[in-house]
Amino acid sequence: MKAAVLEKYNHFTVMEKPQPKMKDDEVLVRIKFASICGSDQHLYKGDFHPRTKLPFTPGHEFAGIVEKIGERAEGFHVGDHVAVDPIIWCGECDACKNHHYPACDKLRLLGVDTDGGFAEYISVSPSMLFEVPKSVSLEHAALIEVYGIGFHSCSRSEVKAGDRIAIFGGGKVGQCVMQAARTKTSEKMFVVDIVEGRLDIIRKSYPDVRTINALKEDPVEVIKAETNGHGVDVAFEVVGHAEDIPGRVNPLRGCVQSIRGGGVVCVLGLGDEPIPIVFKELIWKEAKIVASRVSHGEFAEAIEQLGKGNLKPDALITSVLPVDKIQQAFDMLERQPGKYLKILLNLNK
Ligand SMILES: [Zn+2]
Ligand SMILES: [Zn+2]
Repeated sequence: MKAAVLEKYNHFTVMEKPQPKMKDDEVLVRIKFASICGSDQHLYKGDFHPRTKLPFTPGHEFAGIVEKIGERAEGFHVGDHVAVDPIIWCGECDACKNHHYPACDKLRLLGVDTDGGFAEYISVSPSMLFEVPKSVSLEHAALIEVYGIGFHSCSRSEVKAGDRIAIFGGGKVGQCVMQAARTKTSEKMFVVDIVEGRLDIIRKSYPDVRTINALKEDPVEVIKAETNGHGVDVAFEVVGHAEDIPGRVNPLRGCVQSIRGGGVVCVLGLGDEPIPIVFKELIWKEAKIVASRVSHGEFAEAIEQLGKGNLKPDALITSVLPVDKIQQAFDMLERQPGKYLKILLNLNK
């Protein structure tokens, strides 16, 4: 089979590899489309070293068709369209025993800790598969994992009808949070970023969302003014670092300052650096900060909302390229983050 292999950091080789051997309790999936994630860009550059062991095949956002079913595998039929949940949890640690699987001590991901979906085939446990109705295209199904992250963050922060929302960070994940939150509340929503191209995508796809370029306007001031001084119920931090913009507080502190009393800040931007906040601002509001990692069963919700036409996957997909052009795809994402949001790889070309 064809597979894109990261042999050394910053360089993919597309090569022929043996098809994975399916165990009798597994299902063999012919992958059709895989989507490139921001964390793929990081592991491509070596930021996940030594967790990533070279050579390997990344890819944790993908969808395909069931090709073969092991004798002891149940629940699927040949020809079913499926999205693959890449999370492998141990089931034995304290987090798992408390059904808090995303916080598993030994959490592993297909395409990060093992070979993943930038290949023509993968063999997985049927417990990792979600059937996708044929009314949803396989291109769109490749986004179910990242939509799941958006829906999971909404579950963690308990977004509900009537909530006002602010999202600091309008990249791939930020826009999935926005689209997921929009299925729950039609109230005022703000997205803050500094890359004009990303904000343009939002203006076109969700004209009812107020975009704020933090280089041009003060997000906290705008959010306060346009909610009549109330602030938002939930603010999401999807930046992950203390973006230093003159005259602005960092995005996390911006979230704290943007919520109403008793509001929620949900953090999911993965950062390595400390980000300062002022606890008094949090305490005065008796606010909550909750964290959100990966997803926990929200694949089903993402599939349902895609099926109902309540999400706009085409707004996220800025290009579809054959897997042979994977190197070019990563270069495009690195060089022009304002132009390219989600790039899909077509595994059959
Ligand atoms: Zn991802
Ligand atoms: Zn565990």
